[in-house]
Amino acid sequence: MSDEVVADTHYDVLQKAKTWGFKIHDFIRRCKGVDAVKQYLDEWSAKRNDLPFAIDGAVIKANNIALQEQMGYTAKSPRWAVAFKYKAEAACTKLVSVEFSVGRTGVVTPVANLEPVQLAGTTVKRASLHNADIISQLDVRIGDSVYVEKGGEIIPKITGVELSLRPSNSEPFEFSQSCPECGTPLQRNEGEAAWFCPNDMKCPPQIKGKIEHFISRKAMNIDSLGEGKVELLYDKELVRDVADLYSLKAEQLLGLEKTMTDEATGKTRIVRLQEKSVENILKGIESSKAVPFEKVLFALGIRHVGETLAAKIARHVESIDALMKMTAEELVQIGDVGIIIAESIVTWSQSSMHMQLVERLKQAGLQFEVKKQALQSEKLNGLTFVISGAFSSPERRNELKKIVEANGGKVASSVSAKTNYLLAGENMGPAKRQAAEKLGVKIIDENEFLSMIG
Ligand SMILES: [Zn+2]
Repeated sequence: MSDEVVADTHYDVLQKAKTWGFKIHDFIRRCKGVDAVKQYLDEWSAKRNDLPFAIDGAVIKANNIALQEQMGYTAKSPRWAVAFKYKAEAACTKLVSVEFSVGRTGVVTPVANLEPVQLAGTTVKRASLHNADIISQLDVRIGDSVYVEKGGEIIPKITGVELSLRPSNSEPFEFSQSCPECGTPLQRNEGEAAWFCPNDMKCPPQIKGKIEHFISRKAMNIDSLGEGKVELLYDKELVRDVADLYSLKAEQLLGLEKTMTDEATGKTRIVRLQEKSVENILKGIESSKAVPFEKVLFALGIRHVGETLAAKIARHVESIDALMKMTAEELVQIGDVGIIIAESIVTWSQSSMHMQLVERLKQAGLQFEVKKQALQSEKLNGLTFVISGAFSSPERRNELKKIVEANGGKVASSVSAKTNYLLAGENMGPAKRQAAEKLGVKIIDENEFLSMIG
């Protein structure tokens, strides 16, 4: 980066950048006057559908750099560049039926089935209807001719109804009263537009969603169960909750298979469990038993308890038993826990199904307490170490840190007058060495360090 002027015009700057290897597309044009700009935009209004990528507009810029500087900036954007947006393309077609789909969090989304129509270069058969409020605002009815628009989203949306084409016998559309997956009456929270299925422990997509969350990388990190395997285990009735994972046996898994269809593309693939993947699944489940309490707490998927908050709560309460006994008043004493989160935790804890689940997971051997590292010795009491340079592996540096702490010592990140020892690996930076020498800090290698505690 430099402030050096490489050209007098924006166009030439871009061409220069291209010679340096930056990807600059070939559709830029220098236009003289407003009419030329209009012509360019009109031209691309049709041609943009042939591009291998989607665009929703174009940016018009002043080309002369001196002029750009003269025009300057507002608080938010340059005055010498203006974005032009094409009107979203719309098509009119018939609404055949509405399906309700249940997401992993229980939210029910209405999806419209349409008579196939061409829109922005693709055939559209399905469109989103968002939620009950939008349906009633638009007064969309089965059999209506509706306008469909394609915005930035993958699935197009219905934006209006052509009332002149409405069949005389049409009736107002009624949103589903019950969950299409499990039949439970739907609920809606005050002030929220979305209806949801409250049967979170028994509703199939919600169960699968919970298990997917449980095994995810930031939770229990059982990645051998990714890519459709949860779906497979659910379909074969082997898992109905996360605790079921811990009683899976190799002979139940071996040879299971299922053809999966990708919702977006319609492509199919076969998931089949062979010896190696069964081995990996069981290994992954087994090692998840060592995952620390804070991650287990996050994995349980208590509403509003995200990764960072779970860690904070875990450190504060130190065990699931303590947490499940706490009142909302006690919970809000923990930093970052507001009343909504506190109530969500209390509601979760008071459910007998959750109590049983935790009990079964405890039986399985999961970590439900913060593990305190027992002090191995006090040989390094009062001593401060700085660890620097490369060791046999990146993990080794971490291990050394733990050894220092387990023997009563402290590890600091930089050398200061308070440092007692600089534990040096290979290729330690010269600055650290100089600092240590200047302050009279003793420099030791790994073997010397180990002999201090050995
Ligand atoms: Zn349901």
